[in-house]
Parts: sequence; C-alpha cells; structure tokens
Amino acid sequence: MEIFSTDTTIFHKEIKELLYILEHEKTMEKIAALSSMEAMLLLGTQLDETILNFDKKVFGNRALMEKYQQYMNANYKKFINNFYENKEFHQAYLCEILKIIGEDLQELGEEYRTYNTTYLKEDECIDIITSYLKSIKKENLFYEMIEEKRIFELKRNLDGYNGETVTIINNGDSFIFLKGFDKTIFSLTTLSHELGHIDDFKTIYQKYGIKDSHNLNLLSIYNETISKKYEKDFLYYLVDNNIYKEEAIDILINLYWNDYDVILSTYILSYLPKRLLERDKYQHLTAEEITKYLPEGQKEIGEYVDSLNSTLQDDINYAYGAIISEYLDSNNKDTLYSGYRHKLFNPNFIVENKLLPEDFSKIYQKKLNKLKI
Ligand SMILES: [Zn+2]
Repeated sequence: MEIFSTDTTIFHKEIKELLYILEHEKTMEKIAALSSMEAMLLLGTQLDETILNFDKKVFGNRALMEKYQQYMNANYKKFINNFYENKEFHQAYLCEILKIIGEDLQELGEEYRTYNTTYLKEDECIDIITSYLKSIKKENLFYEMIEEKRIFELKRNLDGYNGETVTIINNGDSFIFLKGFDKTIFSLTTLSHELGHIDDFKTIYQKYGIKDSHNLNLLSIYNETISKKYEKDFLYYLVDNNIYKEEAIDILINLYWNDYDVILSTYILSYLPKRLLERDKYQHLTAEEITKYLPEGQKEIGEYVDSLNSTLQDDINYAYGAIISEYLDSNNKDTLYSGYRHKLFNPNFIVENKLLPEDFSKIYQKKLNKLKI
C-alpha cells in the first residue's frame, strides 16, 4: 500500500464530469462546479500538464464567469459584513480565550519547541495513521482515498500550507494534496488534518446538499474545526499510547502556540475599520499603524504583530477552529451541525451550545496537563 498516487485518471474523470455540469445543469450547480474547478485546475496542473488544456473550456464562457464572480463577491461581502457586525462579540470572547490560553501555555514554556525529528518508513506511516483512525472508527476514510488514488504529493508551493483538500461540491468527492510530506510525525499530523476536512464535508454534504455545502465553504467560520480536531486528536492519541510521545508533545505545543497567534490576529482584526478588512487591505499596514486602532490598555499586543499576513477569512476560520475543536468529544460533532453550521456566524451558536470561556478553561487545562512530563 502506498499513500500517494501518480495516476491522474480519476482527476481527469472528475474534471470531465464537472465540464458536463457546466454545460447541462442549472446555475447554482454550475457555480458550485466552477469553484471546485478553479482549485482542481490550479493544483492539477502541477501533477499533469495536460490538465492545463481544460482551462479554456472551463473559463471560456464569459457570461457564466461573470455570474460566478458576482456570486463569489456577494458572499465575500456577506462574510466581511458579518464579521464586522459581530466585532464586539469577537472582541470580548477572543479576549477571554486569549487570557486562558496565554496563561496555561506559558506554564509549558514561552517559546516554540525544537525537537528531534524521526523519519519513518512508509509502512510505519500507514500503520500509525490507520491505528489512530481505527481508534475513532474512521479508517475507511483513509482506505477509500488510497484505493481511489485521490492523495497526491505536490512539489511546489501551496501558499504556505502543508496540505490542502479539494472537495467537489457537486458530488462530495475529495482529493488531498500534500506538500513536503517527509514521513515524519508532523507530516502525518497534516494528513490527519486533511482527513478531518473530508469527514467534515461528507457530513455536511449528506445533510445539506449542494447549495448549502457551497455556501458553507464561503460563509462559515467553522470550516477548520473538525480538521483542527483531527490534527490535535491524532497527536493526543500518540501521547496516550506512548507512540513517539515526546515528539508528539513538542508538536502539540507548537500547534497550540500557532493557535494562539491566529486567535490573537483575529482579535486584533476585530478592532480595524471595515474598509481595511475588505480584501485584506490591512496587510499593507505596519505594526505601528495597526496599534493605533487598538483600545487603550491593549496597545502592547501591537508589539506581537509585525504584520498581519494571512487573510481575514483564514484567520477567523483557524481561530474558531482552534477554539471550538477543544469542546468536541470524540465522534461527537452534533453541536456543529445543529443548524448554525452552514450559515453566517451568529453568537447564539456559541451561547446556546455553551461554548463559553469558563468551560474552555477547564477542558484546556486538562488537556495541557497531559503534556507536562
Ligand atoms: Zn484545513
């Protein structure tokens, strides 16, 4: 058994199905197909240059492309407006969470860990990831991806990501792309994260169908929640079962510091005026300029921000993913699908599901205690 495929047959097959949709289906289906196509072609041409040939067929229809752009822009606007309208909630909530994380994490050391990296054999990689997945009864997620040759290795950059999952919204099928997979515990953590996306999307697709699944990709701030859960649960599985335990602990602590950074970014962004949030214009600001917008008594956090590099949508997705994933029990993600999941952010989701800082604190402390050795 091998993790990666070099056979792009299935890729071609899916692209052809999407092309059929672009010619025969209704507008909503076409828009969904186009958004999947964009990602498929971008990443696919790295695997197989002949995929470039599809470009014209896909993007050649100007009237349709216009409709597509309008739809995407309207949703983007909704997302930004929604973030801005709820800024006071985000400010108060994230501030509490940051306090908890900051204090608890500092006990484990104030800096990122360096650790001895173990390079595994491919068979051992497969054994480790499947033993984790078996423990949550999700091994089929991985076996199916391998059997259907849907996991690919990318040589070139992924805009700073180590992995990406592309799901075809029209049929729920997915592909995983991994960059720099060097058979380490860290690269298995990335794989676990991407499998989380697949599990998440399967549930959504079955429950809500094409339209809401598509909106969810564009509007939801919970897109990174299940994937963050898979990522951390995988490492805790290693800790609990004494499998490369020390390495897993070091990676977990680094991930938690990453989470802290991204929550802090989102918190800071919630103080910026709307015009700077749109199309991530704040990325051009210096730390000094950003600090101007922070309230008195909070100015010192400006020091931690050299510049805010990632997009607002990414930051907020990873920030809430980091937080909400901590509340979810194994195999229990009903909370996330109780009705708010595929809609715009509504603070009631947090309040009604009791995803509140005092519970967060208890859960967080318990988890971090496992890392103190
Ligand atoms: Zn992700």
